[in-house]
Amino acid sequence: MSSPSRRPLIAGNWKMHLNLAESVNLAKAIKDGSGAAPAEVVLCPPFTALTVVGEILKGSVVRLGAQDVCWEAQGAFTGEISAPQLGDCGCRYVIIGHSERRRLFGEADWQVQKKIKAALGVGLAPIMCVGETLDEREEQKTYRVLQTQLEGGLKEFAPAQLAQLVIAYEPVWAIGTGKTATPDQAQQSHLFIRKTVARLYSPQLAAGLRLLYGGSVKAENVDALMARPDIDGALVGGDSLKQASFLRIIHFKAPSEVG
Ligand code: PEP
Repeated sequence: MSSPSRRPLIAGNWKMHLNLAESVNLAKAIKDGSGAAPAEVVLCPPFTALTVVGEILKGSVVRLGAQDVCWEAQGAFTGEISAPQLGDCGCRYVIIGHSERRRLFGEADWQVQKKIKAALGVGLAPIMCVGETLDEREEQKTYRVLQTQLEGGLKEFAPAQLAQLVIAYEPVWAIGTGKTATPDQAQQSHLFIRKTVARLYSPQLAAGLRLLYGGSVKAENVDALMARPDIDGALVGGDSLKQASFLRIIHFKAPSEVG
């Protein structure tokens, strides 16, 4: 189990799915089913549904998050959405540097850094995504890739500024593929990330940092993943769209509860 000082966090990344009516229905179901969940729960719908989902979640313990943010606060940036605008919609979290943004839209570590800075500037907690491709893993480059992403994305912050930071380890080969990293593989990468943050910033920051695993998390594998000491939660894509599965994920069971 993760340290009791780190509250588990499960975030659902809806990606570019669901119309408004479907978003409202799913948000209502998750809100209604989230009572007594051991984790803090975050829903990250597409930008178009932030307002309607935010209305549903108002007054509940389920938080609203966005899937991306622009590093500029306002201006002539057609198609972009700023951190103050996300805050205005009621967002508390924002996913930054997801591998789909890095791979399909060419997002680089320096952009990730600027987005993290913009989010923190308005009190939004960044969920920074890092992770290696299959080729990189097979070439034994996993740690090198993670280190580069962490050093580039977290450049030039003071440790106190990063208190709200959440990091999601998402091996690219496990996202949307049905292949999950084994609990051992995920734990090893999480430990490496925590040690790297301790070295770059401070052991205190690293000890309190919530590290999520992402990559084909499902009802069937969440308990084993959450049993590992450095896995503090999950970033869930596909199964966050399936009501029953996501509800089971947010109600993950500690090893002693698994019958
Ligand atoms: C994700 O998109 O962050 C993700 C982990 O997707 P999936 O759960 O579908 O692998």
